[in-house]
Amino acid sequence: MLAMSVPTISFSVENLVKIGLKNTESIHYQSTPDELVEDTLRIGEGVLTDAGALAIKTGEFTGRSPKDKFIVKDETTENTVHWNEFNIPIEERYFHIVQKKITEYLNQKPELWIRDCYACADPRYRLNIRVVTEKPWTNLFAYNMFLRPNEEELEDFKPEWHVISAPDLKLDPETCGTRQHNAAIVSFKHKTILIAGSGYTGETKKGIFTILNYLLPHEKGVLSMHCSANMGSAGDTAVFFGLSGTGKTTLSADPNRKLIGDDEHGWTKDNIFNFEGGCYAKLIGLTEEKEPEIFSAIRPGAIVENVQFFKSTNKINFEDGSITENTRVSYPLDFISNAQEPSIGGIPKNLFFLTSDAFGVLPPISKLTPGQAMYQFISGYTAKVAGTEVGITEPKPTFSACFGAPFLPLHPGQYAEMLGKKMQEHKVNVWMINTGWTGGPYGVGNRIKLTYTRAMITAALEGKLDNVETIKDAIFGVFIPTQVVGVPAELLSPRNTWADKVAYDEKAKYLAGLFVENFEKYASGVSAEIMAAAPVTS
Ligand code: ATP
Ligand code: MN
Repeated sequence: MLAMSVPTISFSVENLVKIGLKNTESIHYQSTPDELVEDTLRIGEGVLTDAGALAIKTGEFTGRSPKDKFIVKDETTENTVHWNEFNIPIEERYFHIVQKKITEYLNQKPELWIRDCYACADPRYRLNIRVVTEKPWTNLFAYNMFLRPNEEELEDFKPEWHVISAPDLKLDPETCGTRQHNAAIVSFKHKTILIAGSGYTGETKKGIFTILNYLLPHEKGVLSMHCSANMGSAGDTAVFFGLSGTGKTTLSADPNRKLIGDDEHGWTKDNIFNFEGGCYAKLIGLTEEKEPEIFSAIRPGAIVENVQFFKSTNKINFEDGSITENTRVSYPLDFISNAQEPSIGGIPKNLFFLTSDAFGVLPPISKLTPGQAMYQFISGYTAKVAGTEVGITEPKPTFSACFGAPFLPLHPGQYAEMLGKKMQEHKVNVWMINTGWTGGPYGVGNRIKLTYTRAMITAALEGKLDNVETIKDAIFGVFIPTQVVGVPAELLSPRNTWADKVAYDEKAKYLAGLFVENFEKYASGVSAEIMAAAPVTS
């Protein structure tokens, strides 16, 4: 027997028909989390962990597929989107072909899940979204990650954007104009995101982020940011920018501060607000001791992705990255004990640029001048440790403008200019935090302890670094405090932590060279103050 969820709230069939879907009784509208878990278990696509979370596997894709993300090039986007390797154009006719394929495919399915939700916690910028999913667990992901309208809001809910997700549909690249069998296609004209061939839940999340990164700055004058945010008891807001794996989610979940959001925010003339209603945290290497907030969020309602269990148990082995290193959990924001509701905070006092420098060159904490802040924001540096192949220990540098190039449809200069103006107007403090290596590069040194990083951030937030002595870094020019409560002083200067000083100097110059080379493409468009913030290479 199928456990159908009876729609308690009627929803506009017109809209379904408009997008080519048949309104049948097999449609589950606005199912509860319990129902979606049940549906997932019933179709055999998930199991419960010992903590009661739903464990699923996303299939062939366990991460985003940036090469298969397209934006329809049409009269709205042709001259506004910054076409590059992340914003790949596709002709409108292919959008129609793929949409037809997806709707025909979904119309043949025995069941479908539909959810109305929204993005943007500030009601002035609310974006209503209807998510149509082949899988119940994709629908639960949307429940966890987007904002959840109440009954009253659902009554006159008008979906502005549609996300249609069909993981098991394989596209024919020849007829669909895609690179391969999977694609995420964004049409600003038709206000639709089509996702086919990939079950990776993050495609839905980052699809909505992508459109907000277009709509908010372009149409509303709001700066959109790839960052986490939290708030102190005095109402002071902090924002943490950083690329994947640098610590946005981990460091914003601070028991002494209220969490505003873990990944995507907007900065208006009078506040900052979260785009989302949930968190999407990494699970690799998670321990209850180091990350208690995230650990305790793994409970009924949460979805864990691509994890392995200890043999013959349903207990997650957080060390096991055999399916992917990108194991994740999604959960509603209020699974964190001190979530700010609604997810809105005041103008930030402190910005942190997080980088996980696997070269072990950048200081664990430093203060930036306004010019340096702009230079670092435009650079968007981090370094990953290369693959897991034996013997390969060389870090792989990444420069990703505004700490989020894959999600930015506009030219990075537009976001940077907005941030620059806001930093100047509000005189915010900007800190660079290296959550990566100390004592040498990956393979020689080790990753800096989370407790130290947390202590450094706390000290900055409490104003304890405002009047301390600093040293100017010889190569990067940033200002390194000589004392931070709770952190051994010898850790603060990276050169100090390397046994081989000559090796440090060489590596630092090498990294400085990478910054300069990467910045060449921006040189003609930025001020002398920003150019003067470049690291020294000779
Ligand atoms: P994404 O954009 O992919 O969500 P993120 O910026 O949110 O990435 P996190 O999920 O916070 O990144 O990942 C940081 C990872 O690094 C966590 O697994 C955390 O446990 C680990 N880590 C180890 N040492 C540190 C440190 N000193 N500071 C921050 N994180 C650390
Ligand atoms: Mn994160």
